[in-house]
Amino acid sequence: MKPYLRDKIPVGFEEIPDAPAYEAGYLVTKNAGWRNKRPVINSQKCVGCLRCYMYCPDGVIYKKDGKVDIDYDFCKGCEICRKVCKIGAIEMEAEK
Ligand code: SF4
Ligand code: SF4
Repeated sequence: MKPYLRDKIPVGFEEIPDAPAYEAGYLVTKNAGWRNKRPVINSQKCVGCLRCYMYCPDGVIYKKDGKVDIDYDFCKGCEICRKVCKIGAIEMEAEK
């Protein structure tokens, strides 16, 4: 189960699911059609701190190869992940 920030419980990387967790909105249909910018993770910079995972309101960030990845089918492009990444490993790119 996805841990919540309000619980203030330390979360280890091994506890993070390998697939997106849609708990925030229980999303069942793709909802990214209206997104005009998408977050892109620079895997060279990412240190796998999971801060973006904890703050993503839609639960579409998941761990991958010791870092994180994003399920673009459900990411709405809110940019919160970019704002909370302290080392600037996430940049927004325009949708084409
Ligand atoms: S907040 Fe930044 S450094 Fe931390 S896991 Fe996310 S992308 Fe990587
Ligand atoms: S842009 Fe918003 S919905 Fe998409 S991964 Fe980042 S925080 Fe989650």
